[in-house]
Amino acid sequence: MFRSEGRFKPFEKKVWLCSPTRHGDEELAYIQDAFDKNWITTAGANVDEVEKIAAEKVGCRFAVALGCGTAALHLCVKLAGIGRGDLVATSDVSFSATVNPVLYEGGIPVFIDTEYDTWNMDPRALEKAFSLYPGIRAVVCADLYGTPGKLDELKAVCDAHGVVLIEDAAESLGGSYKGKPTGSFGRFNAISFNGNKIITGSSGGMLLTDDREAAEKARKWSTQSREHAPWYQHEETGYNYRMSNLIAGVVRGQFPHLEEHIARKKAIYQRYREGLKDLPVQMNPYDQEASEPNFWLSCLLIEPSAMCRQVRDEKEALYRPEEGKSCPTEILETLARYNAEGRPIWKPLHSQPLYRMNGFVTREGNGRAKTNAYSDGAPLGQDGLPLDVGLDIFQRGLCLPSDIKMTAEEQDTVIEIIRSCFA
Ligand SMILES: *Cc1c(COP(=O)(O)O)cnc(C)c1O
Repeated sequence: MFRSEGRFKPFEKKVWLCSPTRHGDEELAYIQDAFDKNWITTAGANVDEVEKIAAEKVGCRFAVALGCGTAALHLCVKLAGIGRGDLVATSDVSFSATVNPVLYEGGIPVFIDTEYDTWNMDPRALEKAFSLYPGIRAVVCADLYGTPGKLDELKAVCDAHGVVLIEDAAESLGGSYKGKPTGSFGRFNAISFNGNKIITGSSGGMLLTDDREAAEKARKWSTQSREHAPWYQHEETGYNYRMSNLIAGVVRGQFPHLEEHIARKKAIYQRYREGLKDLPVQMNPYDQEASEPNFWLSCLLIEPSAMCRQVRDEKEALYRPEEGKSCPTEILETLARYNAEGRPIWKPLHSQPLYRMNGFVTREGNGRAKTNAYSDGAPLGQDGLPLDVGLDIFQRGLCLPSDIKMTAEEQDTVIEIIRSCFA
């Protein structure tokens, strides 16, 4: 079934969710420089320079350039002292890389439900988690799709319980909360330069902190933990996590364009908001007073009353088209028919088979009875809203094509395609 068959001309060039945006000569010049000087290794002027730029941009005193954001998060988790059996509270609606590093160290994630205002970790649920799981030793919170969460409140909860906050700012580089850049709220923070992030090195990441000793430790761990000695002397486990000087060249060429990328992403977000405003949908929300997202991905959430029937099992989705209604599956499939790429919301980590034995805490301090299937019978909280907010957003939401190179005309067609799903 495909309701708008033949109504639009498929895009000749695929409209991507989010693909790298190059600035030609600038990145190449830094790579060329590395070649010319033969710094084709994990040290050199590009690595030094991107560390300086990132530290300044994010407002942390120290930056350590690494092979990827996941490596940065791993070293954050190690710096927080997480070891076998330690509980770590983490965002529930996020990319799996937010939490994988906790597993690397033998820690046990406890998933904290999401709030509707910013789609990030709910500070009320985090507070509840500390009474349910007094053993929680650190908190990892992500800024979903480039939108800062309620970082003040989350930080206050962490401080009150004396645990380390790790901010996963992989998606939100360039965003800010109450005037302070994201990636600076945790004691240890991570950013990413993966191919689809707001700026990219093809891969790459960075650990950011104000703690000099921690930065030095991370730097040492990331280069195989060599001690100061004339030979290879080792007292600790080492990692080969340093960023390549060639990749750093790409990142260095991209950094001057960060603000421009954000402006373009914001324009895309605003165009969707305008173009979809009379549909029964809402864009991914943010606190317009407190925060300035980087608008990495534009998303939408369908009103419950405008959802057609949709069921998802572990691997597949089905839906039944209905007049005046739609669902993420229908919109994603229809976009794909026309050669445009959307994406489901990150499936909540608490509902992943990998984490079926892990805790999950809602704003009411419960939620251990987990379900994967979200249906009309989903449990409601005392406020009348769904108790499992993450699953509700997964069920009703999706990420829209948000590529910087998408033209206004292409975006207008994407908007028309979405509208046709609600016909
Ligand atoms: C991309 C991403 C990461 C991981 O970054 P890599 O550089 O791909 O390792 C971590 N957390 C979130 C939320 C991300 O989106």
